[in-house]
Amino acid sequence: MKKDIREKGAILQRDRETYAIAPHIPGGITTTATLRKICDVADKYNLQMKLTSAQRIALFGVKEEEIDAIWDELSEKPGAAIGLCVRSIKICPGTTQCKRAVQDSISLGLRMDAIYHAMPLPNKLKMGVSGCMLSCAEVAIKDIGIMGTPKGWRILVGGNAGPRPRLADLLVETPADEAAVLAVVEQILDWYRQSGREVRIGTIVEEMGIEQFRDAVLGKQATSAA
Ligand code: SF4
Repeated sequence: MKKDIREKGAILQRDRETYAIAPHIPGGITTTATLRKICDVADKYNLQMKLTSAQRIALFGVKEEEIDAIWDELSEKPGAAIGLCVRSIKICPGTTQCKRAVQDSISLGLRMDAIYHAMPLPNKLKMGVSGCMLSCAEVAIKDIGIMGTPKGWRILVGGNAGPRPRLADLLVETPADEAAVLAVVEQILDWYRQSGREVRIGTIVEEMGIEQFRDAVLGKQATSAA
Protein backbone atom coordinates (compact mmCIF):
# COMPACT_ATOMS: atom_id res chain seq x y z
CA MET A 1 0.00 0.00 0.00
CA LYS A 2 1.30 3.45 -0.90
CA LYS A 3 2.24 5.97 1.80
CA ASP A 4 3.37 9.57 2.02
CA ILE A 5 6.93 9.96 0.73
CA ARG A 6 8.12 12.43 3.34
CA GLU A 7 11.68 12.82 2.10
CA LYS A 8 10.25 14.08 -1.19
CA GLY A 9 7.50 16.20 0.37
CA ALA A 10 4.89 14.05 -1.40
CA ILE A 11 1.55 13.47 0.34
CA LEU A 12 -0.60 10.54 -0.78
CA GLN A 13 -4.04 11.70 -1.90
CA ARG A 14 -7.56 10.37 -1.53
CA ASP A 15 -7.27 8.19 -4.63
CA ARG A 16 -4.41 6.31 -2.82
CA GLU A 17 -2.47 6.52 -6.06
CA THR A 18 -1.31 10.08 -6.75
CA TYR A 19 0.49 12.63 -4.57
CA ALA A 20 0.35 16.31 -3.72
CA ILE A 21 3.45 18.44 -3.38
CA ALA A 22 3.76 22.07 -2.29
CA PRO A 23 6.86 24.16 -3.04
CA HIS A 24 8.06 26.31 -0.14
CA ILE A 25 6.94 29.91 -0.69
CA PRO A 26 8.05 31.79 2.46
CA GLY A 27 5.22 33.98 3.66
CA GLY A 28 3.39 33.42 0.37
CA ILE A 29 5.64 36.07 -1.17
CA THR A 30 6.44 35.14 -4.73
CA THR A 31 7.13 36.53 -8.19
CA THR A 32 5.52 36.32 -11.58
CA ALA A 33 8.50 34.27 -12.80
CA THR A 34 8.01 31.69 -10.03
CA LEU A 35 4.29 31.52 -10.66
CA ARG A 36 4.87 31.04 -14.40
CA LYS A 37 7.32 28.24 -13.66
CA ILE A 38 4.83 26.51 -11.36
CA CYS A 39 2.08 26.90 -13.97
CA ASP A 40 4.33 25.55 -16.73
CA VAL A 41 5.14 22.47 -14.64
CA ALA A 42 1.46 22.01 -13.78
CA ASP A 43 0.54 22.19 -17.46
CA LYS A 44 3.32 19.81 -18.52
CA TYR A 45 2.39 17.14 -15.95
CA ASN A 46 -1.36 17.79 -15.98
CA LEU A 47 -1.50 18.80 -12.30
CA GLN A 48 -4.30 20.59 -10.47
CA MET A 49 -3.48 23.52 -8.19
CA LYS A 50 -4.87 24.92 -4.93
CA LEU A 51 -3.80 27.79 -2.70
CA THR A 52 -3.28 26.53 0.85
CA SER A 53 -3.85 28.08 4.27
CA ALA A 54 -0.05 27.94 4.74
CA GLN A 55 0.36 30.46 1.89
CA ARG A 56 1.64 27.85 -0.55
CA ILE A 57 0.47 26.49 -3.89
CA ALA A 58 -0.27 22.78 -3.69
CA LEU A 59 0.04 20.70 -6.85
CA PHE A 60 -2.21 17.65 -7.05
CA GLY A 61 -2.27 14.58 -9.25
CA VAL A 62 1.50 13.95 -9.11
CA LYS A 63 2.44 10.44 -10.28
CA GLU A 64 5.04 8.69 -8.12
CA GLU A 65 7.40 8.14 -11.03
CA GLU A 66 7.31 11.85 -11.92
CA ILE A 67 7.97 13.31 -8.44
CA ASP A 68 11.74 13.73 -8.93
CA ALA A 69 11.42 15.26 -12.40
CA ILE A 70 8.78 17.71 -11.17
CA TRP A 71 10.94 18.86 -8.24
CA ASP A 72 13.91 19.21 -10.62
CA GLU A 73 11.91 21.42 -12.95
CA LEU A 74 10.45 23.48 -10.13
CA SER A 75 13.92 24.05 -8.60
CA GLU A 76 12.21 24.83 -5.29
CA LYS A 77 12.43 23.29 -1.82
CA PRO A 78 9.38 21.39 -0.54
CA GLY A 79 7.21 23.17 2.01
CA ALA A 80 7.08 21.33 5.34
CA ALA A 81 3.44 20.33 4.97
CA ILE A 82 3.67 17.11 6.99
CA GLY A 83 5.77 15.64 9.78
CA LEU A 84 6.87 16.62 13.27
CA CYS A 85 8.53 19.95 12.60
CA VAL A 86 7.95 23.67 12.12
CA ARG A 87 5.32 23.45 9.41
CA SER A 88 4.63 26.98 8.30
CA ILE A 89 5.07 30.60 9.28
CA LYS A 90 2.07 32.58 8.09
CA ILE A 91 2.93 36.23 7.47
CA CYS A 92 0.60 39.17 6.81
CA PRO A 93 1.68 42.09 4.55
CA GLY A 94 2.54 44.34 7.54
CA THR A 95 4.18 47.72 7.00
CA THR A 96 5.39 46.62 3.56
CA GLN A 97 1.88 46.98 2.13
CA CYS A 98 -0.88 47.41 4.69
CA LYS A 99 -2.11 50.85 5.76
CA ARG A 100 -3.19 49.51 9.16
CA ALA A 101 0.16 47.93 10.02
CA VAL A 102 2.20 49.11 12.98
CA GLN A 103 5.05 46.56 12.70
CA ASP A 104 7.09 44.96 9.91
CA SER A 105 5.69 41.43 9.96
CA ILE A 106 7.34 40.48 6.66
CA SER A 107 10.86 41.26 7.86
CA LEU A 108 10.37 39.36 11.13
CA GLY A 109 8.39 36.52 9.57
CA LEU A 110 10.92 35.89 6.81
CA ARG A 111 13.74 35.83 9.36
CA MET A 112 11.77 33.27 11.38
CA ASP A 113 11.08 31.24 8.24
CA ALA A 114 14.77 31.21 7.30
CA ILE A 115 15.73 29.95 10.77
CA TYR A 116 12.89 27.62 11.69
CA HIS A 117 10.99 26.29 8.66
CA ALA A 118 11.07 22.45 8.70
CA MET A 119 13.09 22.30 11.94
CA PRO A 120 12.37 18.92 13.63
CA LEU A 121 10.36 19.16 16.88
CA PRO A 122 8.46 16.80 19.20
CA ASN A 123 5.19 17.55 17.35
CA LYS A 124 3.98 19.76 14.53
CA LEU A 125 4.23 23.47 15.20
CA LYS A 126 2.81 26.43 13.30
CA MET A 127 3.71 30.07 13.65
CA GLY A 128 2.14 33.31 12.49
CA VAL A 129 3.27 36.93 12.36
CA SER A 130 0.77 39.80 12.08
CA GLY A 131 1.69 43.44 11.64
CA CYS A 132 -1.14 44.69 13.86
CA MET A 133 -3.71 43.49 16.34
CA LEU A 134 -6.29 42.73 13.64
CA SER A 135 -4.28 39.53 13.35
CA CYS A 136 -4.76 38.56 9.71
CA ALA A 137 -2.11 35.83 10.12
CA GLU A 138 -4.43 34.21 12.72
CA VAL A 139 -1.79 34.33 15.43
CA ALA A 140 -4.25 33.32 18.19
CA ILE A 141 -4.55 29.82 16.69
CA LYS A 142 -0.83 29.28 16.09
CA ASP A 143 1.46 27.33 18.40
CA ILE A 144 3.58 30.49 18.44
CA GLY A 145 1.90 33.70 17.33
CA ILE A 146 3.56 37.10 17.02
CA MET A 147 1.27 40.12 16.95
CA GLY A 148 2.44 43.65 16.18
CA THR A 149 1.23 46.33 18.61
CA PRO A 150 1.82 50.09 18.62
CA LYS A 151 4.46 49.50 21.33
CA GLY A 152 6.20 46.46 19.85
CA TRP A 153 5.33 42.80 19.67
CA ARG A 154 3.04 40.51 21.64
CA ILE A 155 4.14 36.85 21.74
CA LEU A 156 1.36 34.28 22.09
CA VAL A 157 1.81 30.58 22.70
CA GLY A 158 -0.27 27.42 22.65
CA GLY A 159 -2.90 28.14 20.03
CA ASN A 160 -4.09 25.59 17.52
CA ALA A 161 -7.06 24.70 15.33
CA GLY A 162 -7.97 21.06 14.73
CA PRO A 163 -10.35 18.82 16.66
CA ARG A 164 -9.64 20.56 20.00
CA PRO A 165 -9.21 24.20 18.98
CA ARG A 166 -7.42 26.38 21.50
CA LEU A 167 -6.78 30.11 21.64
CA ALA A 168 -3.17 30.99 22.45
CA ASP A 169 -2.18 32.60 25.75
CA LEU A 170 -0.18 35.79 26.04
CA LEU A 171 3.38 34.79 26.92
CA VAL A 172 5.18 38.09 26.77
CA GLU A 173 5.16 41.67 25.44
CA THR A 174 8.45 42.92 24.07
CA PRO A 175 9.81 46.20 22.77
CA ALA A 176 9.80 46.76 18.99
CA ASP A 177 12.90 44.74 18.39
CA GLU A 178 13.09 41.67 16.12
CA ALA A 179 16.08 40.31 18.03
CA ALA A 180 14.11 40.26 21.28
CA VAL A 181 11.24 38.38 19.62
CA LEU A 182 13.60 35.87 18.01
CA ALA A 183 15.30 35.29 21.36
CA VAL A 184 11.97 34.41 23.00
CA VAL A 185 10.97 32.13 20.11
CA GLU A 186 14.33 30.38 20.47
CA GLN A 187 13.74 29.91 24.21
CA ILE A 188 10.27 28.43 23.60
CA LEU A 189 11.59 25.96 21.02
CA ASP A 190 14.63 25.01 23.12
CA TRP A 191 12.40 24.33 26.10
CA TYR A 192 9.92 22.36 23.97
CA ARG A 193 12.69 20.18 22.50
CA GLN A 194 14.04 19.44 25.98
CA SER A 195 10.65 18.92 27.63
CA GLY A 196 10.42 15.28 26.65
CA ARG A 197 6.77 15.87 25.69
CA GLU A 198 5.47 14.83 22.27
CA VAL A 199 2.14 16.68 22.38
CA ARG A 200 1.26 20.02 20.75
CA ILE A 201 2.63 22.88 22.78
CA GLY A 202 -0.93 24.06 23.60
CA THR A 203 -1.54 20.87 25.56
CA ILE A 204 1.51 21.62 27.71
CA VAL A 205 0.39 25.21 28.30
CA GLU A 206 -3.07 23.92 29.23
CA GLU A 207 -1.63 21.47 31.75
CA MET A 208 0.90 23.84 33.32
CA GLY A 209 -1.04 27.08 33.13
CA ILE A 210 0.50 30.05 31.35
CA GLU A 211 2.13 31.48 34.51
CA GLN A 212 4.09 28.31 35.24
CA PHE A 213 4.87 27.83 31.55
CA ARG A 214 6.21 31.39 31.37
CA ASP A 215 8.41 30.82 34.43
CA ALA A 216 9.71 27.53 33.01
CA VAL A 217 10.53 28.93 29.57
CA LEU A 218 11.69 32.44 30.39
CA GLY A 219 12.90 32.05 33.97
CA LYS A 220 13.93 35.33 35.57
CA GLN A 221 13.04 37.29 32.44
CA ALA A 222 9.40 36.39 32.97
CA THR A 223 8.71 38.95 35.69
CA SER A 224 10.10 41.87 33.74
CA ALA A 225 8.92 40.73 30.32
CA ALA A 226 5.28 39.75 30.96
S1 SF4 B 1 -2.85 42.02 10.58
FE1 SF4 B 1 -2.93 44.24 10.42
S2 SF4 B 1 -1.06 44.75 9.29
FE2 SF4 B 1 -1.47 42.61 8.90
S3 SF4 B 1 -2.70 42.60 7.01
FE3 SF4 B 1 -4.11 42.53 8.77
S4 SF4 B 1 -4.67 44.66 9.06
FE4 SF4 B 1 -2.78 44.66 7.83
